[in-house]
Amino acid sequence: MGAVGQPVRIGVLAIQGAFAEHIKVLGDIGVEAVAVRLPRDLNGISGLILPGGESTTMRKLIDEWGLRQPILDLAQQGAPMFGTCAGMILLSKEITDGDQPVFPLLDISVKRNAFGRQLESFESELDVPVLGDRKVHAVFIRAPIVERVGPDVDVLAQLDDGRVVAVRKGAIIATAFHPELAGETRFHRLLATMAAAFAEPGEGSGRRPHPLRRAAAAKRQAD
Ligand code: GLN
Repeated sequence: MGAVGQPVRIGVLAIQGAFAEHIKVLGDIGVEAVAVRLPRDLNGISGLILPGGESTTMRKLIDEWGLRQPILDLAQQGAPMFGTCAGMILLSKEITDGDQPVFPLLDISVKRNAFGRQLESFESELDVPVLGDRKVHAVFIRAPIVERVGPDVDVLAQLDDGRVVAVRKGAIIATAFHPELAGETRFHRLLATMAAAFAEPGEGSGRRPHPLRRAAAAKRQAD
């Protein structure tokens, strides 16, 4: 709930991929979900989920539908974001197979489809200390792997062999796996908590900040 008792609204980028599953998890935990297809859908949300899917298709549609700068602006304002699988790729500063970054908000390098043919899809039980003691059942589907983690980025989870599969920098979280496909709600709860904190301080419940602040954020982005 926001300061005046209104529910927090979280957007789910709904242009391709596994967005319906995220919308369902948000509903299950009592958070209002907004399917984001157009820039105006971002109005009034306090957090954003970038789902799994095909990052090449998503990057194309993000630009065709004019979503790139508005989403960057929202991140600059401090709105929390959560990317799963292809969503992690979209949030990465570097994609090692040469694709240009889309929202370079996480100082990590990712390699797409990093597990090879035999392991296109697999499941694993992961320790994610930030979510508590109970392990996370992680579903990996043609998943990326994090090959480099910048100094400001926290590692949230690793495979047994040490490879990094979940990271966080401040309000930006990304997982190489799909918690939304495994009945796991704790990442979404964490996002909702951060979204409530973002919505509250003097900005009403999730309304976008004043246009002057948005202009300042856009300028910072350009500098
Ligand atoms: N292989 C996809 C990509 O590179 C990601 C797969 C997924 O999101 N499940 O974009």
